[in-house]
Amino acid sequence: MGSTTQLTTLETFLQGYPAIKYILPSSPEYPAARKPWNGARLDNPMAVVQPQSPSDVAALVKFAKLNSIPFTIRSGGHNLEGRCVVQDALLIDMRALTDVTISSDRKTATVQGGILQDELANKLWEHGLATPTGAVPTVGYVGWAMYGGYGPFSAHWGLGVDQILGATVVNPNGDIVKADGVLLEGIRGAGGLFGVIIDLTIKVYPLSSLLAGPILFDPTDITKTFIDFNAAYEELLNSEGLPPQLTIQQICFNGPMGRAFGALFLWSGTDIEEGKRWSENIGSLGPLLVNMVAPTTMPEWFVANGAMIPSSLAGSGFSHNVRRMSPLIAETIGPNLAIMPSDPGCMVSIHQLRGPSAGPQDHPSVFATREPHYMLELLGFATSGDQEVSKQWALQTTEEIERADPENLLPTSYISVYNSTIQAKSSAEALEKTYGPNAEVLKDLKAKVDPEGVFALTVPALK
Ligand SMILES: Cc1cc2nc3c(=O)[nH]c(=O)nc-3n(C[C@H](O)[C@H](O)[C@H](O)COP(=O)(O)OP(=O)(O)OC[C@H]3O[C@@H](n4cnc5c(N)ncnc54)[C@H](O)[C@@H]3O)c2cc1C
Repeated sequence: MGSTTQLTTLETFLQGYPAIKYILPSSPEYPAARKPWNGARLDNPMAVVQPQSPSDVAALVKFAKLNSIPFTIRSGGHNLEGRCVVQDALLIDMRALTDVTISSDRKTATVQGGILQDELANKLWEHGLATPTGAVPTVGYVGWAMYGGYGPFSAHWGLGVDQILGATVVNPNGDIVKADGVLLEGIRGAGGLFGVIIDLTIKVYPLSSLLAGPILFDPTDITKTFIDFNAAYEELLNSEGLPPQLTIQQICFNGPMGRAFGALFLWSGTDIEEGKRWSENIGSLGPLLVNMVAPTTMPEWFVANGAMIPSSLAGSGFSHNVRRMSPLIAETIGPNLAIMPSDPGCMVSIHQLRGPSAGPQDHPSVFATREPHYMLELLGFATSGDQEVSKQWALQTTEEIERADPENLLPTSYISVYNSTIQAKSSAEALEKTYGPNAEVLKDLKAKVDPEGVFALTVPALK
């Protein structure tokens, strides 16, 4: 915990800011308030403070800087390594800042830094609009978008990071400023490094119908099913191709009925009948168990997704980007699905990036992986059982993938899933691995924007 002197200094400061809510280690609310999504992260912050306005955030940053108090920023708390919580550091919890303002031309929205994905998507849905998000409701939107943001709209509209047009930031001096073009380049890919994101202005799109749901295949011989599905999917991509309105995320998980493998299907086109034909097409790529694709609404879709994912897990996740789901990759992952531990925290999820974000962008960003690829998530988590077993399985699978088809592995990985402490030997190596040549751009920008390192406990880590 923070020193008694620091806590006293904090309490004195907070007396001048009665709107800021706070939870001290002595409070019965503290154990729940400190907990990140990854329950393996046991760090105890000095205190949890909950600003209610941008000026509260600015005051907190000024206070922390003046008193040399280290701090972290948390929105949804879903960083896979739990890095929003650091031992003895002040935890600034942004969850009260959730406003959404839609522009009069309905092409952009300004979204506050503490909003969750379902809160944003549901709000936009009320107005017949949408923007790319991931599928899990409780992930913080800004944390998802500013580091990349893969999800079921990415083939249609692009990654989260490519929706960002503007940002309001509390800078290292504790001032509220509008990001200029240079800062925006860094925010697009590494936002938390330079300040607190008070809001992002993002692109939004008309959307009033949605066709979505899982397509599950017979898991009896899951190895064969996975290999055959990927061979057929690659063939489909190379022959007919897939329409941009369709995004497929492959997933293997332990459900109530046992091990399951399938495709999370999402169609964001206006022609629902065409979407249904595509769902049948995808369902024909393997031994179909059940096709649950149906017209739905954004709120219903998020509720269904939320029910599939435990609200908190403990363990470690790993990631690689591969150009293709080559036979060598599929033949490596397939057998590992068969031996995946049975804990519901163990999962494999495969995002495909194609479409507008898989190439050069008009708006510069430090997000590095700009070619079509699959982002592999090897998730070794546990609900209550032995997290070490889950972690070892996920790590072993990751290492086997590395050896199986090195030519097919992309040089850069996705920061939000890549394990910066286990997959890399140092934070410098992790930075290279996640930002490639853009790591230098980041270091230069950090030296310019935050020379004193006020924002030290960030994602990514520079030291
Ligand atoms: C269950 C689950 C599902 C996921 N699904 C996907 C997915 O489908 N696609 C995908 O791309 N990623 C996915 N992720 C990864 C996720 O997008 C990232 O971990 C993301 O950064 C989480 O954001 P958060 O606000 O919830 O996390 P937090 O832990 O609160 O934040 C992570 C870091 O972001 C920074 N940060 C957050 N908010 C701010 C802010 N307002 N200002 C400044 N810095 C800030 C801080 O440095 C903080 O440590 C998933 C993660 C989990 C656990």
